[in-house]
Amino acid sequence: MTTKLRIAYQRFTSCGGCQLTLLNCERELPLVEKFFDIAEFPILCSNNDSDCFLDVALAEGSISSVEDLQRLLALRRRARFLLAVGACALSGGVNALAHDRELLLADIDGAETLRVETFPAQPIANFVQVDGEIPGCPPEGSDYLRFLGVLQQGGLPGEYAVPVCMECRLRENRCLLIDGKLPCLGPVTRGGCLARCPSYGAICEGCRGAVPEANFAEHFQLLLQTGLTATEVRGRLERFMGRNDEGY
Ligand code: SF4
Ligand code: SF4
Repeated sequence: MTTKLRIAYQRFTSCGGCQLTLLNCERELPLVEKFFDIAEFPILCSNNDSDCFLDVALAEGSISSVEDLQRLLALRRRARFLLAVGACALSGGVNALAHDRELLLADIDGAETLRVETFPAQPIANFVQVDGEIPGCPPEGSDYLRFLGVLQQGGLPGEYAVPVCMECRLRENRCLLIDGKLPCLGPVTRGGCLARCPSYGAICEGCRGAVPEANFAEHFQLLLQTGLTATEVRGRLERFMGRNDEGY
């Protein structure tokens, strides 16, 4: 009999959409249950064990409070492998876009509201070692299944090395950047989503983060030719790829 790997899924600062994508894999969930012992997954289980040793911990969301950080450190100590799940965990995601946090918090909560102490949202890798990344906002269901399948076989999946453009061309889509003069981020974004957005006529917003060896300098110039200002181009690139302090 195969030994089941014990896993946990914890959410930090995020909308929760990444874990819903996993739960939407309804046909495959019985297989996940067959090969994995789900020790902790609050959105799914009534009984959660928050202390046991884990083979695999999945961590969704950015870190933006002391409470987040304490939970993350405890999760890391318990787990053999820790996987960062989704754009917020990988780059800070949309949570990290608040340039003027005081203004934003006052706008949302109101000046008089008692607020939880927070700090600027940061990726998980700023605080702990990360053994694997499941990209996307949210990830594809196939991302989870690929990771869990490889882990179950005793390995760790590699990074996606091809850009969205490659998958887009394989699907024979019309190029929104070259033909449509629209600010598509496909050339610098890692694939794996089968060019989901361009296949429906919408530009790639870069939600899966930067592909290895992305040529940002070249893409910056291409995006300027679509009519965006340098500030707008920078904003688009930073949304899911983090700040680039060296400039483009
Ligand atoms: S539409 Fe976007 S993703 Fe598709 S080929 Fe053009 S630049 Fe690449
Ligand atoms: S096409 Fe781009 S924005 Fe759309 S899902 Fe894929 S990586 Fe994300």
